Amino acid sequence: MADDFLFKPFEEMTPEDYAAVGFKSGLEIHQQLLTARKLFCRCPAGRYSAKYDAEILRHMRPTLSELGEYDGTALMEFKTKKEIIYRINRETVCTYEMDDTPPFMIDEEALDIALGIGMLYDCIMIDELHIARKQYLDGSIPTGFQRTTIVGVDGKIPYKDRSIRIIQLGLEEDACREVSDVGHRRTYVTDRLGMPLIETVTAPDMRTPDEVAEVGQLLRRIVRSTGKVRTGIGAAREDVNVSVTGGTRIEIKGVPRLPRIPRLTYNEAMRQWNLLRLRAALERCGVTTKSFSATMEDVTKHVRKTLYQPVQSALGQGMLVMGVRLGGFKGFLRWQTQTDTYFHQEISDRVRVIACLTALPNILHSDSPGEGLSSAEWQAVRKTVGARDEDAVVLVWGPAADARLGAQEIVIRAKEATIGIPSETRQALKDGTNGFERILPGPDRMYPDTDLPPKRVEAERLTGLRAALPARVVDRERRYAGLGVPSDLVPVLASSPFAGLFDTMTGERGLSPKFASLGLAQ
Ligand SMILES: [Zn+2]
Repeated sequence: MADDFLFKPFEEMTPEDYAAVGFKSGLEIHQQLLTARKLFCRCPAGRYSAKYDAEILRHMRPTLSELGEYDGTALMEFKTKKEIIYRINRETVCTYEMDDTPPFMIDEEALDIALGIGMLYDCIMIDELHIARKQYLDGSIPTGFQRTTIVGVDGKIPYKDRSIRIIQLGLEEDACREVSDVGHRRTYVTDRLGMPLIETVTAPDMRTPDEVAEVGQLLRRIVRSTGKVRTGIGAAREDVNVSVTGGTRIEIKGVPRLPRIPRLTYNEAMRQWNLLRLRAALERCGVTTKSFSATMEDVTKHVRKTLYQPVQSALGQGMLVMGVRLGGFKGFLRWQTQTDTYFHQEISDRVRVIACLTALPNILHSDSPGEGLSSAEWQAVRKTVGARDEDAVVLVWGPAADARLGAQEIVIRAKEATIGIPSETRQALKDGTNGFERILPGPDRMYPDTDLPPKRVEAERLTGLRAALPARVVDRERRYAGLGVPSDLVPVLASSPFAGLFDTMTGERGLSPKFASLGLAQ
């Protein structure tokens, strides 16, 4: 299995290669709706500004769930000891968003748009909406939860010679925009908070990275064909989930642009495959979850005189240096995970996010001997942590509490390599690879919202909305192609707000379809 196949460079991978590793991917698309107001209050939507009148400070604290367990994300966010700052502009935020007043009834304009899109997806429409709270523990929503409701389920859209299943369509509130995240302080602006957006969840029906991007484009054309969604930076954000045979369903969050999806999903599939191969290779060296061993020690005094600049400057600020021994890991920190990315990156990411050691590099390890400490310093460090030849050693430095937490996270992440692929969410990076974002929240994130009653969706309302729906994008595309519209303009015109004008110009005015489409697609 895992050892039979090695990932080729991106350009050389074929659909058969993806089939060999069991590539599967699905999308969760968040799309802002073009409404005048926010979803559960009467603040204006879509007014972005860096201006703010006040700042509010919050700390995250984990609480036990009803099952008596801590949620993984909650615990992680608590470990980070972040101060969360919210910047508030009176013109775009009221007391609702800060959980000081109850919600208003759902915005009818937003609901109409969502219902219409649900019908374009061929969903089974829900006739009684129940508002739920979805836990959000990263601080991006000040109340700690998002109000959300499912408007349609079990839809499908035609794609190639098959269908892509739409699991559900939700209508929910947008979260805050992050402005910065440095050390123990994360800052958000609240203008976007509470704006209506739809969440489209597809089944994992895409079999290659290109298909994921194509389906993303297709869904975008469908929602834009209504003319009632926002466009521009941040108006549509994709979460992409990927898995391979034997792997874990991993979600890459907040992909800002669809053309980045193929490389991102390729790299995530490779990462999972290579982590499975790493587990097998460790096992061959006798390193298993059961036999795993690690030690950590304060090694500050052995590196006092180092010429390695990052550690030197840390010591200058009175910081602590911790050494971590990973039993039997020699060479494995250089195990490839993604394109030009190696296992030590997984460790560095955890240290950065959880121990808040955000200045990079934040670790140094013995599998890159050319850089860093002198051989005498390495020897002293290895002796202190009790390293044998077959062990790897990782250094981490920072304020005492952070360096100790960092050392613990190094051990945790290394041990996870013997288990497989950790359940976590990942963030998209510019080079097409992805990095650790947070530990996956538990499955019990949703609970009923007691502030709002269920809401009936009358059959007449759906009938009225259905009559006003635009023609299906696939049907339009087929018609345009038949009329002789150039093939590159067909998809542009099909989701264009000028599509109606095109019909007028080619019908009553008798213009040639080719000429009219060239003029309107500008
Ligand atoms: Zn408000």
